[in-house]
Amino acid sequence: MIDFNIKIVIIILMLISDLKKDVKYLKGVGERRAVLFKKLGINNIAELLTYYPFRYEDRRRLSKIIDVRPGEWHTILGEVVAYDYFNTSKGKVLKIFVSDNTAHLALLCYNRNYLKNQLKIGTKIFLSSNKFEFKFREFQTAEFDFEIYDENEENINIHTKRIVPIYRATENLSSKVIRTIIYNALNSFVRELDDYLPDFIKKKYNLKDYSIALYKIHFPADLKEIEIVRQRLAYDRLFLLQLLLSLNKKRITTILKKQNYFKDTLRENFIKNLNFNLTNDQKKVIEEIVNDMKSNRMMNRLLMGDVGCGKTLVALIASLLAIENGYQVAFMAPTEILALQHYNNIKNYLSKDDIEVTLLTGKLKSAEKKEALKKIENGETKIIIGTHALIQENVKFNNLSLIIIDEQHKFGVMQRASLHLKSSTPDILVMTATPIPRTLALTVYGDLDISVIKEMPPGRKEVITKWFKENQSEVVYKFLKDKMLEGNQVYVVYPLVSESDKLNLKAAESMYLNFKEKIFKEFSIGLIHGKMKKDEQERVMKEFRYGKINLLVATTVIEVGVDVANATIMVIEHAERFGLSQLHQLRGRIARSNKQAYCILLTSYNLTEDAIARMEAMVKFSSGFKIAEIDLELRGPGDILGTRQTGMPDLRPANILTDTKILQAAREDAMAIVEKDLNLSSYPKLLSIIKTEFSEKFNLIKVG
Ligand code: ADP
Ligand code: MG
Repeated sequence: MIDFNIKIVIIILMLISDLKKDVKYLKGVGERRAVLFKKLGINNIAELLTYYPFRYEDRRRLSKIIDVRPGEWHTILGEVVAYDYFNTSKGKVLKIFVSDNTAHLALLCYNRNYLKNQLKIGTKIFLSSNKFEFKFREFQTAEFDFEIYDENEENINIHTKRIVPIYRATENLSSKVIRTIIYNALNSFVRELDDYLPDFIKKKYNLKDYSIALYKIHFPADLKEIEIVRQRLAYDRLFLLQLLLSLNKKRITTILKKQNYFKDTLRENFIKNLNFNLTNDQKKVIEEIVNDMKSNRMMNRLLMGDVGCGKTLVALIASLLAIENGYQVAFMAPTEILALQHYNNIKNYLSKDDIEVTLLTGKLKSAEKKEALKKIENGETKIIIGTHALIQENVKFNNLSLIIIDEQHKFGVMQRASLHLKSSTPDILVMTATPIPRTLALTVYGDLDISVIKEMPPGRKEVITKWFKENQSEVVYKFLKDKMLEGNQVYVVYPLVSESDKLNLKAAESMYLNFKEKIFKEFSIGLIHGKMKKDEQERVMKEFRYGKINLLVATTVIEVGVDVANATIMVIEHAERFGLSQLHQLRGRIARSNKQAYCILLTSYNLTEDAIARMEAMVKFSSGFKIAEIDLELRGPGDILGTRQTGMPDLRPANILTDTKILQAAREDAMAIVEKDLNLSSYPKLLSIIKTEFSEKFNLIKVG
């Protein structure tokens, strides 16, 4: 049996290694085109075969120009018959006339005057658009796709008389060329592609064979087929990812952990001595965390909750359980400022207790660092707060049992993995203030258990968010003046540190001078940005915290976690330059006291639809969960997570926003398999595909 499995794995690996070959070896590619393919993210044959079309054209049924209607998708076959130019404020624009004997139309080639060389008179083209309109007594379109028609290709059945795949192209590598190369590659390789999905799953959902699905997603026989095979391929991606995550989760739960938490009185005393009550949600998640810690399995938990809901306090309370039992806790923050702030806060919380807290960041002086490292190693210190220095430096913990990672979205999966190495069986708590919709959480954090805090501490007022256009900045500055006179502190945030020639934007440095010397002469103005030295940044934050600065001009260095309760006003200039979750993070800085806070978004006049949607969402919603959902809709999941950062694999053609049913099914199937067969010994094909496709991206676990 074992021999048999090994043989299969070897055969599959041989095939896979063929698919891993550079595309340059394919017919029609070569060195020069291979470079262009790399631009599209295609290095090897496997990546080529899974470079899916982004739309299709039904060239079995072409429209006649006379039948084309505005607002509909049409593909026509026509001939270039004439040129013209017309003048605009930005210069001459090329106009190309195309005719098909029923009528003619005009292509407006804004910024595409070079098309004159490609579209010579007499050239026949397939022309596609959904933006045809009747204007200036003429049928025209300014947004169109075209492909040169070649009569000689009538018989090869790739580009004509069929449903044709359209690919994202790049300069000198057209969709048509990509189509030809994919077509040839499919025909050489597709029959050899092995189906790694177990038969019982294929039967369960009546799924097409992998090779058929892959072929048909490029070259479908009819339109209905496209969605059917897309679902099969989407299932594949989601299933493999869920399988990997389930394996990880299950393997962790098979390990008995070494630490024991017997004593448990410190927590209660600490909670009693707080001068406020924990919220119900805080109590609930503390319970979940403590249960995990007291069990004999390692904790792997994600704590989600909007900025200011009290996650840090929850983490500290969980830490007390570890400390009381003689263990160490590592608390990792994404920036120096934040690490310092956590350090100060936690020292403050623990001022009555006899617990040693240590800060470890990259910028400590070497004597301080030596001292810190010594205390960590000999166990004198119990809570160690730091940046990624905690994992990068030569830090030896004495008996680390709990690892807390704040603001997860700033760290990669890789870093989460390397912290594992600092202790043999650590309990891990990951905290994030960027709430993620459930489907997405299952996808990325499918190996973690999830706790959520939805409730805010009592008395918090919702931040009032207003949106102004740049010509109203006078009104805004006047408002700031009034608020500062009442004793409030203000942040004014800019996208850039200094002005740039290319972008006509106000920037932090120049506006700092402008405020200080002109607009707000009578107030104390501060400046903070990422290009300043760290101790300079800290000095400014300290002055701001102690109220010595009324108005702080800043960049996004203040985005994460910075906590100054008296700062209740924030102006974000050029707000359209920021993403939605970033705007929400920034706004979180002023949502931390019981005073009414105001967030003012200043934007230019000409905004894209997307920017308008972001501003409107900010004005309308204050819940981070709602904002995260809208963000996901606007940007798509890859961007939100920062694909590279999280090591998130490419899930195309799955769409994790809309394929929730498939995701759920894939998750259940994967868990059922792992439940029965943790080593995947009955599924050698699955094991090898996971190894080759995912393990390099997901260094978290060693499979097999
Ligand atoms: P988060 O880490 O989720 O952004 P923090 O733990 O930093 O939130 O809490 C934000 C602020 O709210 C802190 O000043 C903290 O002391 C305070 N806080 C936390 N929990 C409560 C509570 N239950 N009632 C009142 N204030 C609280
Ligand atoms: Mg926080």
